[in-house]
Amino acid sequence: MIIADARAVYSPEGPFKLTMIERRDLEPHDVLIEIKYAGVCHSDIHTARGDWGSVNYPLVPGHEIAGIVIRVGSEVTKFAVGDRVGVGCMVDSCGECANCHKGEEQYCLNGMTGTYAAIDRYGQYTQGGYSTHIVVTEDFVVRIPDSIELDVAAPLLCAGITTYSPLRHWEAAPGKRIAVVGLGGLGHMAVKLAHAMGAEVTVLSQTLKKKEDGLQLGADHYYATSDPETFKQLAGSFDLIVNTVSAKIDISAYLSLLATDGTLVNVGAPAEPLSVNVFSLIMDRRSFAGSMIGGIRETQEMLDFCAEHSITPEIEVINANQIDEAWERVLASDVRYRFVIDISTMGNA
Ligand code: NAP
Ligand code: ZN
Repeated sequence: MIIADARAVYSPEGPFKLTMIERRDLEPHDVLIEIKYAGVCHSDIHTARGDWGSVNYPLVPGHEIAGIVIRVGSEVTKFAVGDRVGVGCMVDSCGECANCHKGEEQYCLNGMTGTYAAIDRYGQYTQGGYSTHIVVTEDFVVRIPDSIELDVAAPLLCAGITTYSPLRHWEAAPGKRIAVVGLGGLGHMAVKLAHAMGAEVTVLSQTLKKKEDGLQLGADHYYATSDPETFKQLAGSFDLIVNTVSAKIDISAYLSLLATDGTLVNVGAPAEPLSVNVFSLIMDRRSFAGSMIGGIRETQEMLDFCAEHSITPEIEVINANQIDEAWERVLASDVRYRFVIDISTMGNA
């Protein structure tokens, strides 16, 4: 048994408390990772607060994990002690279904295993990256390129791949007009990645408060969705809209911004259902789609793409005793643009 220090919530309201959790002893294909940094994703908050259904407490969130391999199982071939590695939103899948064979483990037909709040193949309740150590089977570990520091690498493991995957799937490229709704953790990565892929990028944010930042991140245009003129002015003008908003919005209004055959892909996962006026779809043969993270192979591809294009998230590093405060700021859309926990402060009072 391996003991890790961790920060856990014991109820939907929190607060975080310092605790100890058990990690399994290494199976032949497992690696033990000393976690250096963990990103704070809005999904951590949705999960802990029960937005997506009930969960077991105590819960240790965190699925944007960057660290160093400090021990390997007897049959590990992909990693060695000292390697700089990352773990994202999943730690296992069946490995046998059609989707796993395609490298799309996130859509495993037998259900992938989430990094936290899931039951793994050993019958254990998984606990995430707000902790000092984690044991993961090597197939669900990715390599962090040398040019990417571990603190900025962490958010790539969820915010990075969750935006990279749909941008690739719907072929972001020069000539494509792409809108990103919500400039938070996912949104700001979507802007950087879509810009690097050559697309013309528009940010649709609630206000113009972050306009300067948005343009700096690579957006070509920036509009406030609180201004009704925005919806008149931009009607029919995008090939792809990536909606990263964590709350319920009037999705039909956004669908009307798509050109003929355009797609709005939802990566935001609000607690409440979104209702669609079908006329906003049928009028211009538009599509309303969803996308969940990305496969392991694609996650490695995304990391290599970020290294090649010098893309890293904008982060604010916090101590482990500041997570409650950071969560409140995420909920208030007051994040520029990802909080990352410095795990070396785990024991701080
Ligand atoms: P975040 O940093 O909080 O960003 C969300 C942004 O949405 C905010 O910064 C804000 O941007 C906008 N927003 C928030 N409340 C809003 C409201 N009431 N009306 C309009 N806009 C609002 O969150 P995140 O970590 O990027 O995650 C975003 C969503 O994606 C969450 O629901 C999360 O669970 C989900 N997610 C999904 C996947 C997946 O695989 N599909 C993976 C990771 C996360 P502005 O201030 O610019 O308006
Ligand atoms: Zn996430």
